[in-house]
Amino acid sequence: MRAKLIRVLALLGAAAAIAAAGWAGMLRAQADLMEQGRRQLELMAPDLQSAMEKYETLPFVLGFQPDLIQALASPTDANAIARLNQSLQTIQQQAKVGAIYMMDRTGLTLGASNWDQPLGFVGKNFSYRPYFNEALHGRAGLFYGIGTSTSEAGYFIAQPVYRNGTAGGPVAGVVVAKISLADFEQTWRSSEHAIALADRHGVIFLSNQPQWRYRSLQPLGAATMEELARTQQYMGQKVAPLSEHPGQFVARPVGRLGWQLMLFPAQTRVVRAGLLWALAAFLLLSCAAVSGWALHQRRRRLEERNESRQALQQAARELDSRIVERTQQLRETNQDLENKYARLKATEQMLRSTQNELVQAGKLAMLGQMAAGVTHELNQPLAAIRAFADNARTFLQRGQPAQAEANLGHIGDASARMGAIIAQLKGFARKDESICAVELSKSVRASAFMMESEFRRHGVALAIDTGPGPAASAGGADAAPLLVAGDAVRIEQVLINLLRNALDAVEDAPQRQVSITLERVDGHAEVRISDSGGGIPEQVAAHLFEPFYTTKPSGKGLGLGLAISSSIVQAMNGQLTAHNLPGGGAQFVLRLPLQPESTNASHPH
Ligand code: ADP
Repeated sequence: MRAKLIRVLALLGAAAAIAAAGWAGMLRAQADLMEQGRRQLELMAPDLQSAMEKYETLPFVLGFQPDLIQALASPTDANAIARLNQSLQTIQQQAKVGAIYMMDRTGLTLGASNWDQPLGFVGKNFSYRPYFNEALHGRAGLFYGIGTSTSEAGYFIAQPVYRNGTAGGPVAGVVVAKISLADFEQTWRSSEHAIALADRHGVIFLSNQPQWRYRSLQPLGAATMEELARTQQYMGQKVAPLSEHPGQFVARPVGRLGWQLMLFPAQTRVVRAGLLWALAAFLLLSCAAVSGWALHQRRRRLEERNESRQALQQAARELDSRIVERTQQLRETNQDLENKYARLKATEQMLRSTQNELVQAGKLAMLGQMAAGVTHELNQPLAAIRAFADNARTFLQRGQPAQAEANLGHIGDASARMGAIIAQLKGFARKDESICAVELSKSVRASAFMMESEFRRHGVALAIDTGPGPAASAGGADAAPLLVAGDAVRIEQVLINLLRNALDAVEDAPQRQVSITLERVDGHAEVRISDSGGGIPEQVAAHLFEPFYTTKPSGKGLGLGLAISSSIVQAMNGQLTAHNLPGGGAQFVLRLPLQPESTNASHPH
């Protein structure tokens, strides 16, 4: 809105400036033209003046011509008149004036240079002309007017002709020379400016503008009108004011009749100058506007560039701060994660130790449970040992060494049994220290190898199947060794224990077969020990893994094997289960989790 107003104002200002320039141009041109006109007049006026003055003496000199004096003296003498006419004509032709003629004292024309022309002056009376009266009174008569007979305008110069040719004497007549000024008018035609010659009344009688001729510059007064009519200066011409105003002009007086030579500078030049100045102003303003616009654009561009640079810098700063912020956030998040991870670690550590403690505690609980059994189991042989020892001392006091020796033998048996119990417990109480990757197939083969002689001694067949081991197969999923984390010695202890139980189970059976197999079952290794014995009776199955539970006769079984085995397997995150086979006999399944590297087969040979 404001910009629009400013634009309108600027346009108005520019228009005003252009108009002012045009106006100034016009004024300047006008002044120049006036000055030029003035100079032109200075050149023209003397020409005119000299032309008029040149002939001023001519009639005066003529007044002393004998022909003229003679004619005035005897106006009826035809010869004298003829001589006069001849003489005037010759002089007129020589002097190159319009006409020369002579009047007597009444104003009657006696002779004229144009005597032989139809409109000749001879016989005409010009007494009404002011110049006649002037000359009659001994003065030079000057006049400009239209010839009443020829209708040709001219400058009339009249001089007296003295009787007998004596200057200052009585005036006998008047001689007049008429000079045409039409030549001047002709030369003015070539001027582009209007030029006019006006009489003392302001009536224009010579001009290069034909329509201005016999027009007055201002309305004439009644007295002037009357005078013009009386002297017939402009003959029948009705002198009216100029129809249009001629505009500004320069003027200069000429001659002795109060004439004014005037020059009206051509307005077309003024207008053209105004237009030129206006055009120049327009071009200048256009240039200024264009360069102003260009400057404005440039400044705008600079500003825009500056703005965009600032925006860019701002964006960069924001980005920087955001990066710093994000970095800080990330650092905090990272720190948080690290803290969480540390806490997780700590928790895991705690869990692990708790688990270990739990395992240990479980063992201890079982140990506590066992302690009662152990106490009972150990108390019996201990009591027997004391009794045998007391008796042995008595037998020795009585001098019966044979009995004493038998008793010492019993003591030896009892302590051996105690030693067996203690040996079993010792292995159980040992804390796991040598946990490492155990290749199960090796453990299976090792335990089978250790039991081999005993199986042979009892004539029991032991079938071993450790699956497609590294040597047996050239590759494939089963080629990878089945690795579990644990203690090889303890795994073998468990396997030997299970093999021994199986051997015991098939002792009285019609078919005596035991097999041990190893296979991978989804992420676990399973060792199955199957026998062809009588299987596990239902009442036995409920107590199978309890310590000191045995169906075997005293001295043969302690009832600790499965309890300890189960504890060992549980400590390795495994499971020990037992079930009867459909075709008779029992099967014990040892299930252990595989180590990660053995869960997939990626080691082809
Ligand atoms: P022990 O062998 O000293 O009796 P265990 O804890 O090893 O102690 O076994 C507990 C009992 O489980 C055995 O007395 C027996 O009754 C039963 N048992 C163990 N293995 C088998 C088997 N293979 N078949 C049938 N019964 C079994």
